[in-house]
Amino acid sequence: MIAAALGGLASFAASSIALAEENPDKTTSKLFLFRYDTEGASPDKMKGFLKKAVEVHRRNEIPATFFCKGATLELMKNEFGDFYKQVKGDRLFDIQNHSYSHIGLGYERGKPVEVLKADYERSFAVHERLFGVRPVGISICGTSGADGPHLSGFDATEKSRAELDMVASLGVRMIDSFLTGIDGSRRFVNYGSLGHADIMGFPSGYSDTAWMWQHQFGDPVEYVLGELRKRAEKNEHMPLMMHDWVAWMHAPDQELTHVSKFADAARKLGYKLVTHIDCLRDKQLWA
Ligand SMILES: [Zn+2]
Repeated sequence: MIAAALGGLASFAASSIALAEENPDKTTSKLFLFRYDTEGASPDKMKGFLKKAVEVHRRNEIPATFFCKGATLELMKNEFGDFYKQVKGDRLFDIQNHSYSHIGLGYERGKPVEVLKADYERSFAVHERLFGVRPVGISICGTSGADGPHLSGFDATEKSRAELDMVASLGVRMIDSFLTGIDGSRRFVNYGSLGHADIMGFPSGYSDTAWMWQHQFGDPVEYVLGELRKRAEKNEHMPLMMHDWVAWMHAPDQELTHVSKFADAARKLGYKLVTHIDCLRDKQLWA
């Protein structure tokens, strides 16, 4: 009897642990995070993208975060200025930062911390001039070559810890989840273990450079819908990393039809669509 009760308790405990592992965040709703890293280098080719993004996201009520590269903001200041005028105060649109020159954080070699800092300071200054506010969020830029391999997390080396300290000193309060042993495509984290409990890590993954530009997984739309269904079954969050230049120049059309399809499917599967700043405000989620 006691053994049976203990057995029952043990299996209850085991199932509670399993449940906690499957749904590690302190929330019951699964979130879909649409994001664009805007880093297009050709104003002529990118003409019309921002206008279309406002139209489609507003018509279909799809929240999205735009992580803007400083050099692109300068190159297309009229377009981004118009964009800001249209979306200012609209909670569907969250505008954050993506470094000035697409410089890499969290690499084994990487640039000296002072060089990284100057790059982010320059980008934040451009951002503030154009949008009137400093960004509080950045998405990590992927680089290759001289920076060496990407590390397992900001906790991996003294230099990468110093990089997190540096972005914290600039006022950054959200950045990709990047800690050793954490699945950064699924989890929100806070960086308390590195002395920054007020910084949220957000899930990041599914770059359209792989599925839409390089066609690594067959039909790009079917691939993302399939991954979305898999995540929904496990009650897991879904991040989607898009790029302005991929969505505009490599999608099947310039109506962002794929984005609308993903949003419709996500809603049917019970996802709540959110911006990154919505997540930062929801401290239950990560703090
Ligand atoms: Zn990028």
